[in-house]
Amino acid sequence: MPQNVQKVSMDTIKEMKSHYIGSLQSTPQGAMFRAKTPHAVITAYKSGKVLYQGKSPETEMKKWDSRSTSKPVSSSKKNQTSPSFYHPPANLFLSHHIGTDEAGTGDYFGPITVAALYVEGHQIEELKQMGVRDSKDLSDPVIRRLSKKVVAMNLPYSLLVLHNPKYNRLQKKGWSQGKMKAMLHQHAINNLRKKIGEKPLNGILIDQFCEPTIYKKHIASEGEKLLKDTYFMTKAESYSIAVAAASIIARTSFLNEMDKLSHKLGITLPKGASKKVDQSIAELIRKHGTEMLDSCGKTHFANTKKADQYL
Ligand code: MN
Repeated sequence: MPQNVQKVSMDTIKEMKSHYIGSLQSTPQGAMFRAKTPHAVITAYKSGKVLYQGKSPETEMKKWDSRSTSKPVSSSKKNQTSPSFYHPPANLFLSHHIGTDEAGTGDYFGPITVAALYVEGHQIEELKQMGVRDSKDLSDPVIRRLSKKVVAMNLPYSLLVLHNPKYNRLQKKGWSQGKMKAMLHQHAINNLRKKIGEKPLNGILIDQFCEPTIYKKHIASEGEKLLKDTYFMTKAESYSIAVAAASIIARTSFLNEMDKLSHKLGITLPKGASKKVDQSIAELIRKHGTEMLDSCGKTHFANTKKADQYL
């Protein structure tokens, strides 16, 4: 379904509402009004963005083109310390956007995987129908199956895997896990941004794992900056299908890497960081020696020490 987005002033939205007064429908949360004409469904948001969806959205949008404020309010004018500054506008979830998410950060064994994925507005419904949603609610077999379907749709994405030896090296160099995650998210975004080229993009949504100001500090320390229209939100996978799909891709990659490591080491590596993990660490040390942990575990986790009691 084609769709267009326009930015207008509050006064224009009021004017539009009276223009469409005979076609109004119930107002969605966060919106000023919604109207339905034979050409399009028009939804105006408090942020001043107007979304046109339907058979010929341009027909309606043209009527208001002259009122369009050429550029959205520039970032520098907004208060960057306000908590809402990085919060995405509600209509982002319905439009062309990038979502990012990671897997493996709380697991002793296995890498950290991060995916960034791009969706166009008209693909969102298909992904929803497919069953794409927060991967935390899905079983591993379902996640793998969904991942295949998502990949088959040829949505542009970027997937990064931080393997254990490099993870441990960075950690010893003084990198926090937060900094590693920030750099992975940022590199995945940068790669994907290049990949999509001139395709329309209304924003980038990062599933928030630390305060946005901390994220910015982390990436700045490696010479990186946030791209334009980058937003942060906790539990973003429940709102954004791009984040949900990215979480499925990242999780599947993590599962695959765990399988590879398990195969290589000859034991089934458990996920998480529980007592079962401590016991597996002891088993690995007995089988292959302590040095082997560097190739498959996040060795600074307390589990390494706790495994001693099983030796
Ligand atoms: Mn997440």
